[in-house]
Amino acid sequence: MPELPEVETLVRELRPYITGRRIDHVILRWPGCVVTPSPRAFVRRMKGRVIQEVSRRGKFLRFVLDQGSWLVHLKMTGRLLLLSAFEPDPYARADFILDDGRILRFQDLRKFGRLYWVADPERIFRQLGPEPLDPQFRPEDLARRLAGRRGRLKALLLDQSVLAGIGNIYADEALWRARLHPMRPAASLNGEEIQRLWEGIREALLAGLRHHGTTIQWYRRLEGGSGEHQRYLKVYGRAGQPCWRCGTPVVRQVLQGRSAYFCPVCQR
Ligand SMILES: [Zn+2]
Repeated sequence: MPELPEVETLVRELRPYITGRRIDHVILRWPGCVVTPSPRAFVRRMKGRVIQEVSRRGKFLRFVLDQGSWLVHLKMTGRLLLLSAFEPDPYARADFILDDGRILRFQDLRKFGRLYWVADPERIFRQLGPEPLDPQFRPEDLARRLAGRRGRLKALLLDQSVLAGIGNIYADEALWRARLHPMRPAASLNGEEIQRLWEGIREALLAGLRHHGTTIQWYRRLEGGSGEHQRYLKVYGRAGQPCWRCGTPVVRQVLQGRSAYFCPVCQR
């Protein structure tokens, strides 16, 4: 699933192409991808709107329109692609034809991705925790969010109401950088460990962003290319290969129903 670095990469790539563009036509091929309003109302709301700005909140893309906002959540296999000409595609779920003739296509193999038109996105965003790359997000804030929580670190990092934007890949990467075991009870962390976790989260996300995201299987950039961060991952997908820090083989374990990659020696 695309996480913060992948979604942020798309936002940065979209910005120069679509800011100020008008959506002339909407072809909704699979109405089931629209959460709100009804599919018919969604098309009516979107048609003719001018895109003023593109941004990200957690794993959501937000297009600020001259009326309301369009939100996109890519979930497992969703992609946004910018095409200069129409091309047939069995997985195209919606096409947005822009006033410069380009087509912004929402493609989704497995149909978990979702589109929203909302007057006020805060109704959805207020369920999300803080943005880990926000300069105002400090180690004290992380400590406060974990204090008194009964969960394990990995599960809490994946919980979007604790922190927004982290998924399986960057949770494992952050915990390796912080030298913390994914099953550590969050309440057991001391101040120094919180500081390490805060740094680990930020470094893992910034590294992903620097390499335009991680393409394991499905994630693509706006014009169809892959991210590069899969070549730089510390533990994710590296079971059996030596830990970059201590040489111990990285293990993959299913913990609480989710797989986690970690170093059994240097993550405590
Ligand atoms: Zn190690």
